[in-house]
Amino acid sequence: MLHFSTLTREERCSGGEIGRRASLRCWWEQSLGGSSPLLSIRYRPHSVCKVGAASFLVPRCESPPIPLITLTPILEPCSLDATLRVNETFHSIQGESTFVGCPCFFIRLGGCPLRCHYCDTEYAFRESAPRTLGALLDEARRVACPLVELTGGEPLAQARAFALIRMLCDAAFTVLIETSGSIDIQPTDPRAILVMDLKTPGSGECEKNLLSNLAHLRPHDEVKFVLTSREDYLWAREMIKTHALIDRVRAVLMSPVAAQARGKEIEGCAPLDPRALAEWILADRLQVRQQTQLHKHIWEPQTRGV
Ligand code: SF4
Repeated sequence: MLHFSTLTREERCSGGEIGRRASLRCWWEQSLGGSSPLLSIRYRPHSVCKVGAASFLVPRCESPPIPLITLTPILEPCSLDATLRVNETFHSIQGESTFVGCPCFFIRLGGCPLRCHYCDTEYAFRESAPRTLGALLDEARRVACPLVELTGGEPLAQARAFALIRMLCDAAFTVLIETSGSIDIQPTDPRAILVMDLKTPGSGECEKNLLSNLAHLRPHDEVKFVLTSREDYLWAREMIKTHALIDRVRAVLMSPVAAQARGKEIEGCAPLDPRALAEWILADRLQVRQQTQLHKHIWEPQTRGV
């Protein structure tokens, strides 16, 4: 008789032989691939929900080896008529990454499976409307800015985002993707540039980091830490060392968190002093790039669409 336990991505079950079937508990359609000790569950977001926590059931095991659960989106051919849930689009100045200061066309997708304490786009969790990939591509062409960023929310939580990224790359845009690092990045077009967060303990979402993503970062990608405290800084410093991040990506970014009021779904956060962070970095001779969010210096911090 099989016993089932509920797991989330990257969580390990108690070990042993993996059952032949695993079934998703709610809205995730799936099929099984791979074999012990790595159990892969391929999924596609439900046509209505689009995003959600990847809770699923696997047989409880009694002895090693311990299987590692990973989720890989199923990529389907997408037509220009396929839709994504979009929160907003706007033309502004890039506020972060090594592209800071450059004009950029932003496509903010709706929905995010995380709830970081400091999230400054909580409105994107709830506010979105369907737009076709063709309409988004046309708008990018009309804006005629060579740099396009997909952001959110969590843009990669909608599997069709990977098709839009490919289309934008085909159209010769430089494509940036701001991602939380909690979704498998493997299907991303290799021409696009990932700016991938590693969520610190102070974010409240550290356990959602999909660490297997680190192996799939390319030399032109960037990794970002948003830091809420000295403890977060020490955690980030250890991650950089353990995973040799400075040698593996174009830039490792460190951002002192800005103050964020409590929201409907997030806890809120006190700011971290940028000067304290600068002094820690200098004392450690850490070859990272400190950044603040430039757009919040240009416009009021709460301004949307900039
Ligand atoms: S990953 Fe965190 S910061 Fe980014 S949109 Fe989701 S909740 Fe907000």
